[in-house]
Amino acid sequence: MKNIGIDIGGTFIKAAIVENNGNIIISSKTPTPKEGTLLADKVIEIIDEIVKKSATDMNKIKSIGIGAPGVCDSKKGVIVSCPNIEGCKNISICSYIEKKTGIPTLLDNDANCAALGEYMVSDKRADSFVFVTLGTGVGGGIILDGKILRGINSAAGEIGHIVIDRNGERCNCGRYGCWERYASVSALVRQAKAAGLGQNVTGKSIFAEKYKGNKRADEVIEKWLSYVSEGICDMVNIFQSDEIVIGGGISREGDAITDSIKRFAEENSITDKNETRRTKIRVSRLFNDAGVVGASFLYTQI
Ligand SMILES: [Zn+2]
Repeated sequence: MKNIGIDIGGTFIKAAIVENNGNIIISSKTPTPKEGTLLADKVIEIIDEIVKKSATDMNKIKSIGIGAPGVCDSKKGVIVSCPNIEGCKNISICSYIEKKTGIPTLLDNDANCAALGEYMVSDKRADSFVFVTLGTGVGGGIILDGKILRGINSAAGEIGHIVIDRNGERCNCGRYGCWERYASVSALVRQAKAAGLGQNVTGKSIFAEKYKGNKRADEVIEKWLSYVSEGICDMVNIFQSDEIVIGGGISREGDAITDSIKRFAEENSITDKNETRRTKIRVSRLFNDAGVVGASFLYTQI
């Protein structure tokens, strides 16, 4: 059986037909409509196209899962609001698509979908799992007992807003010293600019400088990783999950990111001496596909 995953972004809508093991059979990428009211019809169009292209029969599709970048009511299948898409308010997307396609349709926010995707392709399938994305901000998703932790407003897992320095920088959320002010890729770029690494640096270019032997870039990265580690250590202490997976484009740097974090967590978290009983820390396996693959697995959350 196959499922369809849809990952709605501010710029593109990604779609994929995904097998039960997380393999993508076929995928597509379409610009997101400028008007929120056009969204549901656009998604139906995309589903039709991708099913036709794959030469799959619609009745071989078990479910459709949708990830959206905003507040989602997963129980009702309603996109409550998406700040990046104009006029995207209270869209009953699931019932609309179910009516048109006859296929059960499920919804969650994009961070939860990405967490679910990484969890489903992880090795051990332990019952707890934490996903952390480092990007413009710090986002994430938490899986407990195999289920996405949604909380009252389907908005649980906002781990970027744990406070690591209450006398620190002001955050968009209104508090001071939130983790994402220090540990996001935007923060790394700010820190690199302040250290004189140039005004056009990106996360990737700062790492490239480090690999070339630039000592200042290395120092900036190590300092930044110490901030990342503080939050990861909290995640270890709170959840003692089987794994913590770090995603976002920067996670492609692999060991250059995880080595220091692992060391810090080992030295500072409340953890077992036995390595097999410790939270494993690693980078993403799905990278940019985490959202679309995770959306295709939303049927496991019913
Ligand atoms: Zn905050």
